[in-house]
Amino acid sequence: MKYDYLIVGAGLFGAVFAHEKAKEGKNVLVIDKREHVAGNIYTENRMGINVHKYGAHIFHTSDKEVWDYVNEFAEFNNYINSPVAVYKDELYNLPFNMNTFSKMWNIRTPKEAKEIIEKQAGEEVARIKKEKGSDEFEPANLEEQALSLAGRDIYEKLVKGYTEKQWGRDCTELPSFIIKRLPMRFVYDNNYFNDRYQGIPMGGYTALVEKLLLMGKNDEMPSLPGTITVKTGVDYYDFVKMEGNTPAEPFESVNGDSFDKILFTGMIDEFFGYKLGTLEYRSLRFETEDLPEVDNYQGNAVVNYTEREIPYTRIIEHKHFEYGQGKGTIITREYPANWKHGDEPYYPMNDDKNNKLYADYVDMAKEYPNILFGGRLGQYKYYNMDQVIRAALDMAREQ
Ligand SMILES: Cc1cc2nc3c(=O)[nH]c(=O)nc-3n(C[C@H](O)[C@H](O)[C@H](O)COP(=O)(O)OP(=O)(O)OC[C@H]3O[C@@H](n4cnc5c(N)ncnc54)[C@H](O)[C@@H]3O)c2cc1C
Repeated sequence: MKYDYLIVGAGLFGAVFAHEKAKEGKNVLVIDKREHVAGNIYTENRMGINVHKYGAHIFHTSDKEVWDYVNEFAEFNNYINSPVAVYKDELYNLPFNMNTFSKMWNIRTPKEAKEIIEKQAGEEVARIKKEKGSDEFEPANLEEQALSLAGRDIYEKLVKGYTEKQWGRDCTELPSFIIKRLPMRFVYDNNYFNDRYQGIPMGGYTALVEKLLLMGKNDEMPSLPGTITVKTGVDYYDFVKMEGNTPAEPFESVNGDSFDKILFTGMIDEFFGYKLGTLEYRSLRFETEDLPEVDNYQGNAVVNYTEREIPYTRIIEHKHFEYGQGKGTIITREYPANWKHGDEPYYPMNDDKNNKLYADYVDMAKEYPNILFGGRLGQYKYYNMDQVIRAALDMAREQ
C-alpha cells in the first residue's frame, strides 16, 4: 500500500503528528517495536488501576493551545502533584515551601525561614572560602553549590542522598551547574509545578493516545479525511528496505508498502548506525508490586526517599493519580541506573559533549530532507509531554 508518511514510534510525538497529518487528508502508517502504543506514557490497567509502566507521568503545562488540544482526547482530573519526601523517620512536603521549613525548624513565618536559610548558607560559604584561603566564592562541585543556596539542613536531608542516587556519584564529584537554583517557596503551597494547567487523563494515557491514533471503535472517534494504520511489534530496522545504514529511496518496506516521507522518533544515533559515536542517557529500573490486600500503601501518589542508603529514589502508588478507592493497590519502586546499549534510554544527558555529537547528527540528517526526526530520542531533548505535543504540532504544520 502507498502511504504519505511512515511514522516510526507510536509515542506521544508520533501519535500527535499522525493525527495532524490525517486531519490534512494524508494516509499514514505508524509502527512501533513495542507491543503497545503510547511509548513511555503507556498505562496498563490492572486491578482497576492505571499503572504508569514507564514512570509516573503528570501532565502540566502553561501552553493553552496544548491544554485545549489534549482535552479533546481525554477528560483530565484535578490531580495536583504534591510529593512527600522521607528522610530516615522524618517526613517533609515538597517542593521546598513553608510546610517543609515549618516541619524542619518548628517555625511559622517566611521571615523566620529566610533567616535560617540565609544564616546556614552564609556559614557554609564562609567555611568553604576559609578552607580554600580565598575571598571569592566559586562552587567547585554540586555539594558546595547546594550548600551555598540552601544551607546544611536542607542539603543533608533533602538534596544530598537523592541527587547521589540519581547520578550514581557523590555530590562532591558532580559539577555545580547541575543545580543552578534550588526553587523555594515562602508560602504554604505543596503544588510541585508552577504551571497554569495540571491533571491526569481519566482512564489513563493509553486511551488518550489510542484516540489520537483513531484506534478506538466507538463513535467518539474523530472522523478525519485521512487514515492512520497502526502496527505494533514492528521494528523499523526489520521493516524498511535499507541501503547501508539508511533507507533506500524511494522508501519501501520489506512487504511492499511505500512512503513519501518518514518521521523517525527513535534514537537518532542508532538511525545512522552510530557512525559518529553514541549519545549517552541515564536509565531507570522499575520494580512493581501488586498488593491486593492493601488498600492504601502510602497515602500519596509520589513519595521520594532522600537518604542514600535506600537504593530507590521514589515509590509511586498509582491509584492515587486517579483518586482510586477500590480494593488493592499497586506500587512501583524507581531505581536510577546507568545506561548501556540495549537498556531503555530514559533521560538524555544534555552535557556539552553529547549536545555537540547530537548537533553533528543533525548536520548529517540535512542530507535526507524527506526524513524528519522528532521526540525525545529523535531530537535528543528532555521533553515534557506538553513540549512534545507543542513540537509535534509545530512540525506537522511546517512539513
Ligand atoms: C521516568 C519519566 C517520567 C516522566 N514524567 C513526566 C511527567 O510527569 N510529565 C511530563 O510532562 N513528562 C514526563 N516525562 C516525559 C515524557 O515521557 C515524554 O515527554 C514523552 O513520553 C516523549 O514522547 P516521545 O514520543 O518523544 O517518545 P517515546 O514515548 O519514547 O516514543 C518513542 C517510541 O518509538 C519507538 N521506537 C524507537 N525505536 C524504534 C524502532 N527502531 N522501531 C520501531 N519503533 C521504535 C519506541 O518503542 C517508543 O514507543 C517523563 C519521562 C520519564 C522517562
